[in-house]
Amino acid sequence: MMCIYVARQRYDAWLVADRLNQLGIRAHVFNQHASSIVGDVPPDVAQPQVWIERECDEERAQRVIADIEAAEPAAADLQCPACGETSPGTFDLCWNCGSSLAGSAHPAISE
Ligand SMILES: [Zn+2]
Repeated sequence: MMCIYVARQRYDAWLVADRLNQLGIRAHVFNQHASSIVGDVPPDVAQPQVWIERECDEERAQRVIADIEAAEPAAADLQCPACGETSPGTFDLCWNCGSSLAGSAHPAISE
């Protein structure tokens, strides 16, 4: 296991981990709730981190992360109608609870 990425936001960490897992690189997010558990830890220590299981995947993982950072989402953040968490505008589903975010922008037809 090794830390491959320190995210500024929880959804950044989930975005990176999801992309890595889709590409067959086993990745996990740690520390995503650290800010509510630890009191006196400096902010950079409490930030969410993405860890990969196999160190041999490091080079590929770094390239995937560089691609993600190069393609910063242009869309505005969306607020989840179900849980209130903020997700990037490029997300279809809430990273936190999995609710559809598209429904908030385009009200669903009720049948
Ligand atoms: Zn949600």
